[in-house]
Amino acid sequence: MSKKNEIITAYTLQQCNSCKEQSKQKFSDGDYVFKEISKCSSCDGQVMVTKIFGESLTQ
Ligand SMILES: [Zn+2]
Repeated sequence: MSKKNEIITAYTLQQCNSCKEQSKQKFSDGDYVFKEISKCSSCDGQVMVTKIFGESLTQ
């Protein structure tokens, strides 16, 4: 057993289908790959989830 606390946080990578701007957000319930999130803030494109991944933070 390790004494270190490993916390895995899930993130989604979201990308605009028009300007290809990417952003990383914390995963929220119901997110899935190819889910349409919202309109892009910099253009009129549609932002979709392109990837869901986890990052571990060791404290
Ligand atoms: Zn865009």
